[in-house]
Amino acid sequence: MTQEAQEDYQFFKVVQDYLDQAADVVHLPTHVREMLSQPKNELIVNFPVKMDDGSLKLFKGYRIQHNNLLGPYKGGIRYHASVSLDDLKALSAMMTWKSGLMGIPFGGGKGGIKFNPRDYSNHEIMRITRRFTHALGTHIGPHFDIPAPDMGTNAQIMVWMMDTYMNSISETDKNAQRAVVTGKSLACGGSEGRAQATSRGVLHCIIEWTKEHHFELEGKTAIVQGFGNVGGNASLLLAKLGVSTVAVGDHSGYLANPEGFNAHKLIDHVKHHGSIGGYEGGHEISRDDFFSTKADIFIPAALENQVGTKEAELLDVKLIAEGANGPTTPAGELILKDRGIHIIPDVLANSGGVTVSYYEWVQNRRSESWDAEEVLSKLETAMTRAYHRVEYFAREHGVDQRIASYALALQRLNTAYAERGIFP
Ligand code: GLU
Repeated sequence: MTQEAQEDYQFFKVVQDYLDQAADVVHLPTHVREMLSQPKNELIVNFPVKMDDGSLKLFKGYRIQHNNLLGPYKGGIRYHASVSLDDLKALSAMMTWKSGLMGIPFGGGKGGIKFNPRDYSNHEIMRITRRFTHALGTHIGPHFDIPAPDMGTNAQIMVWMMDTYMNSISETDKNAQRAVVTGKSLACGGSEGRAQATSRGVLHCIIEWTKEHHFELEGKTAIVQGFGNVGGNASLLLAKLGVSTVAVGDHSGYLANPEGFNAHKLIDHVKHHGSIGGYEGGHEISRDDFFSTKADIFIPAALENQVGTKEAELLDVKLIAEGANGPTTPAGELILKDRGIHIIPDVLANSGGVTVSYYEWVQNRRSESWDAEEVLSKLETAMTRAYHRVEYFAREHGVDQRIASYALALQRLNTAYAERGIFP
């Protein structure tokens, strides 16, 4: 899976092109288009961390703050060997569109550290996280920029970030600062439902699509690329709806099981072994075999740039629901459209994560904790509403759901810019 679909892929340029297309549809004023085409702030920090063997190693961390017109910068922290400034610029812009589309009072941001967390011990990851948070200093904060988990990070890492931030600032009411990150553990101020939120959001979109297309989910099949928080939970939730996952993949390779994987067992295996590799309930297949597996639904839930022209020709599914950010290349997308394969785009499909992050932030600020039912029913309402707004816009304007999602976000941003004007 570490393999990429397109060699010269420029993620930020791809997101810019979608922005341009959507801006044309909503007749976005040129100055607003220009402002949104670059992040407001690009922060790069270099910091040393003591390794377990006593040596010191220098790390490079990033935080890109794309836009804060509608509220504080908001978005994940990625720990991955592929982290780059340009990719984070793309991902931070996508966060602005997600918040704008979902109508939550946040802007967009994204950050990360370029390293492979699998090569480091838990103690080292803790020290890396704490030094990174310290280096970011007051460039993050509950009213300014609110990180969250992304690829390679989790609730534990968010709690370390929160704890470091709380202990570095001079505020007397340290507890009020919990909302500096979301996606925390329940014990440390996290929200019920946050861990599964992205996958649930993907599922709500799939369900709405099936209603429109008179497509019965029970008895159908799926293939899932990436078996971390998003992919694993999506497979689990699909199983509850009677959809069996027949092929999976991650950085260690690809597996098939025509009878359907036991998602619980596979998630457990990944928890203990760090990947799907070595799981006995399936047989190894190639990357091409994975993409050619006949199924009804494909959920990409790994990295960007995974479905290019070759993969788009191979895929034998009816629907793609993008759990990952940017998995499909524009060239791949053209082929998929030609072949009548529908795509529920990332900005819509995976926005359940940031939506429940918002609920977590609200609960922290109000010192409340909502039960799972309340969180999940709010999420369902928000996702269903967003899906239909996108679908309606797409139909009205003759565009696809991706451009419709961008366009709806842009409309909201444009109204706010028009009313506020440009300072001074
Ligand atoms: N990293 C997730 C995303 O890409 C969640 C961000 C958040 O909750 O702020 O949408």
